Amino acid sequence: MFSTKKITIAIDGYSSCGKSTLAKALAQQLGYVFIDSGAMYRGVTLFAIQEGIIQQGEVNEQKLLAKLNEISLGFKFNPVSQHSDLYLNNMNVEHIIRQPEVASYVSKIAAISQVRAKLVHEQQVMGKSGGIVMDGRDIGTVVFPNAEVKFFVTALPEIRAERRFKELREKGNNTISLEEVKSNLILRDELDSTRTESPLVKAEDAFLIDTSTLSREEQLHLALQEIEKRLF
Ligand code: C5P
Repeated sequence: MFSTKKITIAIDGYSSCGKSTLAKALAQQLGYVFIDSGAMYRGVTLFAIQEGIIQQGEVNEQKLLAKLNEISLGFKFNPVSQHSDLYLNNMNVEHIIRQPEVASYVSKIAAISQVRAKLVHEQQVMGKSGGIVMDGRDIGTVVFPNAEVKFFVTALPEIRAERRFKELREKGNNTISLEEVKSNLILRDELDSTRTESPLVKAEDAFLIDTSTLSREEQLHLALQEIEKRLF
């Protein structure tokens, strides 16, 4: 169905709208590598929390920048989940970076330009040979502006909040309410879309997918159709 040329697929969009699920499914279908760039911003945030760089809700930017080169991030394939886990300084942090505490600070950390410069560079190195599906907020606009295929994913806030809430409950988190999940999503979207450094915007040449009423299979089908159209 597809050519043997290994292309780059960029997926951007709002929080919890199904970007990663779609990206993973595409990568699996095409035999590509999947990179969750949001996990890397979450990894830096976890480091900041562990080092006491965030206190009373405020990020001590100078302290973080002084320690930026102590942060080493990497992905390793997990044969059980069949996906890659994030490692922070050689520790598997895949589970802990999904916790609400990390989610509540990550957009502040992601707005710092030196943090972005470090992570964007690492992401570009990971994707230099193509054959990659990367999801995030600036993949089609900044990380891979020349990606052969770009998607911009969105969904209604209520639906995104419900999906995220369900996911957290399934992972055993019973402390956060649906309302709290929803306000975190809305706040993150607001911060991500209005920051000066690489704000979340749809790349002009990105194909829009609204997942509000689409099943996972329908989303994958739509994306594969679009890839085929763009490549042939
Ligand atoms: O995708 P995920 O929700 O895990 O991303 C967490 C946060 O990381 C986003 O809300 C955003 O602040 C930041 N991010 C970013 N640029 C990316 C990926 C994520 O700013 N490419």
